[in-house]
Amino acid sequence: MFRNTLLSENGQEIVCNSETRRTLLTKTTFLRGIRCLKSLYLHKNFPELRDPIDTRTRGILMRGNEAGILARQLYPGGIEVSPENPENFSAAAAKTREYIESGADVLYEAAFLHEKTFCVTDILVRDGKAWRACEVKSAAGISPEHLMDAAMQYHVMTEAGIDLKEMSLIHINRRYQRHGDVMARSLFSERSVREQVRERQEAVRHALGEQREVLEGRIMPEVGIGVHCFAPVMCDFRGYCWGKIPEGTVFDVAHMPKSRMVELYRSGIESMGDIPEGAGLNAAQRLQVSCFRSGKSFIDRGKLGAFLDTLDYPLYFLDFESATPAVPPFDGLRPYQHVPFQYSLHFLPERGAEPEHREFLGTGEGDFRREFIVTLLAHTEKEGHILVYDRSFEEGRLRDLGQVFPEYGGAIKERIGRMRDLMEPFRNRYYYSPAMKGRYSIKSVLPALVPELSYHSLAIRDGYAAMNAYEQLRHEHHDGTRAEIIRNLKEYCRMDTLAMVKILRHLEEVAGKR
Ligand code: SF4
Repeated sequence: MFRNTLLSENGQEIVCNSETRRTLLTKTTFLRGIRCLKSLYLHKNFPELRDPIDTRTRGILMRGNEAGILARQLYPGGIEVSPENPENFSAAAAKTREYIESGADVLYEAAFLHEKTFCVTDILVRDGKAWRACEVKSAAGISPEHLMDAAMQYHVMTEAGIDLKEMSLIHINRRYQRHGDVMARSLFSERSVREQVRERQEAVRHALGEQREVLEGRIMPEVGIGVHCFAPVMCDFRGYCWGKIPEGTVFDVAHMPKSRMVELYRSGIESMGDIPEGAGLNAAQRLQVSCFRSGKSFIDRGKLGAFLDTLDYPLYFLDFESATPAVPPFDGLRPYQHVPFQYSLHFLPERGAEPEHREFLGTGEGDFRREFIVTLLAHTEKEGHILVYDRSFEEGRLRDLGQVFPEYGGAIKERIGRMRDLMEPFRNRYYYSPAMKGRYSIKSVLPALVPELSYHSLAIRDGYAAMNAYEQLRHEHHDGTRAEIIRNLKEYCRMDTLAMVKILRHLEEVAGKR
């Protein structure tokens, strides 16, 4: 018999109220609980303590929605079950039950409840007297978390009375290349995970038992900080749990494996300054620690000057923004391939001159890549080195465009030949300030060298946010909202190249070139 109810102790069907919601487990909260029981407890009881959602995670969620909708083409003609209010678990489960009993063959977002555990499956397909469930992931492969997610769904659905003959995960096929309309059959790969989810049923039951105990009790589990706070995803209660850890600890040593940081911390070494000799730090980390101890910058004026001597005015300062959509937006692209949609270009005709500014933004209407490269080539026609920050990125995008438009191959090669990398003095540690905190991205270098110029007042402050804004622009039709997104994107990208102009000026002053 098919059951899809939330039952009270005496077997009565109950309505989902705030207390029920506090103890209800969903796929997302279940996976949170597997990562850390304390995180689950905090999420349910003190959600206000969560860190704000970061721009990278927001982008992953946006991409997931787009892939989920497109994957429905693999099983067309289904009925959308999601309730108007996504918090209304009981309504979703009741609606699913109605459709199943009325003979529907394909359901999207079918919802199931069993003993205060709720799941929504992306696609549910009738297969004779049994069913096949498909979970869509916007990733390029299957991870242990995906399998646990599917195993939890399998548990809830089968316990709710669904005869599940097959369970599969649908993920992005990285080898797909778009030509014309997106072909869901080629974009996605579907893999049966029936055996893997069956093998995990005991683990699911055990984890659910443990998690229910935590949610029904009122005592926060004692879990110390550790590697689990970072992987497989960054925990959003770090602000709460890590708040007592001050700046300048072993956790701030750049590029040190998290496991090594935790090892040092647990051995009683908290401050970065207390890390002993022979602790296995590389040269850059040793420099970071020694500058932290002294509080002074390190500058190799000889090497810095030699780098500056390689730059010939006039100078261009160029920065690209790109998106990496799971679903390729234009012909010739593969999933997650970079699509440069914007650039900012400052131009300095001579040392000390006021910079001139040029820019380009693909506003989301059609394939703008030809216009992008034609405009860029025109803007960089005059002689002079082209400064970028992290050359591999801009050079890689130009090479991609050269493949799409071979007629511009020669001009693109010429621009690449004129490229110089402003990151070089920082990556090679000709100049290091403790304020850079071991990093050499432009976001770390700018506040250390030019604190008066800041991204803080901008609506978009990092590349992930720019990527998300561009994704929003592609689907936005409201003129006012579009204008605002365009303005924010332009301000952000312009700041990147202005920051480069100011950083170069600072380096020239320090090296006595001005
Ligand atoms: S920060 Fe770490 S210890 Fe705290 S809730 Fe998250 S995973 Fe658990």
